[in-house]
Amino acid sequence: MQVKLLYDLVEELAGADTGRIVEILFGKKDVNEFLIARKMELTINQVRNILYKLSADGLVSFIRKKDKRKGWYIYYWTLKTEKCLVKLEDSLVSKIEELKKILESRGVKRFYVCKSCDIEVGEEKALENGFSCEECAEVYELADNSGPIREAKVKVARVERNLKLIRGELDVIREKEKKKRVKADKKIAKVEGERKALIKVARAAARKRVARSVGVRGVGMSGGKKGKAVAKKKVLKKVKKVAMRSKASRGNGRQVTGSRKKGKVVKKVGFGGKLKRRFGGKK
Ligand SMILES: [Zn+2]
Repeated sequence: MQVKLLYDLVEELAGADTGRIVEILFGKKDVNEFLIARKMELTINQVRNILYKLSADGLVSFIRKKDKRKGWYIYYWTLKTEKCLVKLEDSLVSKIEELKKILESRGVKRFYVCKSCDIEVGEEKALENGFSCEECAEVYELADNSGPIREAKVKVARVERNLKLIRGELDVIREKEKKKRVKADKKIAKVEGERKALIKVARAAARKRVARSVGVRGVGMSGGKKGKAVAKKKVLKKVKKVAMRSKASRGNGRQVTGSRKKGKVVKKVGFGGKLKRRFGGKK
């Protein structure tokens, strides 16, 4: 990170002499605001003022924790690296635009200067003043644009260099974030897949139970895919188990069978009733 650039940006946003906060926060996480105040030799309110301004631009984030002994909240601050870089990028882009405007106007416009007051004015203003200085009445001289043009060109080159660095850093951070996201997505997909598989198994088991219980009455053969005639004694045992299980999980066999498959509803309800009578289910 171009800490010096960030330092300047913070001062632009939060006022003179606030850039130092970057050095305290940079590369750290959840920095206690009282520690920041102590290091900057400022009051807690002054520090919070700076941080609120920066947080309005998303450059810092905070968490708060209640101090158990004192009972008040303490804020812990973190510099948001990506946001800082984006903000820097924007700021540098507009700086370049400004400089290019200067270059353009210096290329085509005349400026006039009063050498004794060291004041420069544009052509319109000079005309308005009758080509003599507003302050001292000295006659204006035509300004040499080559100096400001050279200066602006040097600045543009420097800002463009910085912009390139910032963009390079942003690329690195975004690439990392992207990898993290892909990894997280994969994890979510895996968990979801496992959940679906479990549901599938549970459904299959439920269908089997239904098919078996229908089979007992001898009417399930047409409905259930795996409808088989099984020895009555054995099946009855299983039916008992199923009844207990469905009672435990749903409380009422009626609702479940009723909502499943249309054709069997009426008979199943009757069967459910039978089971209840048999095993003493409540109404
Ligand atoms: Zn003058």
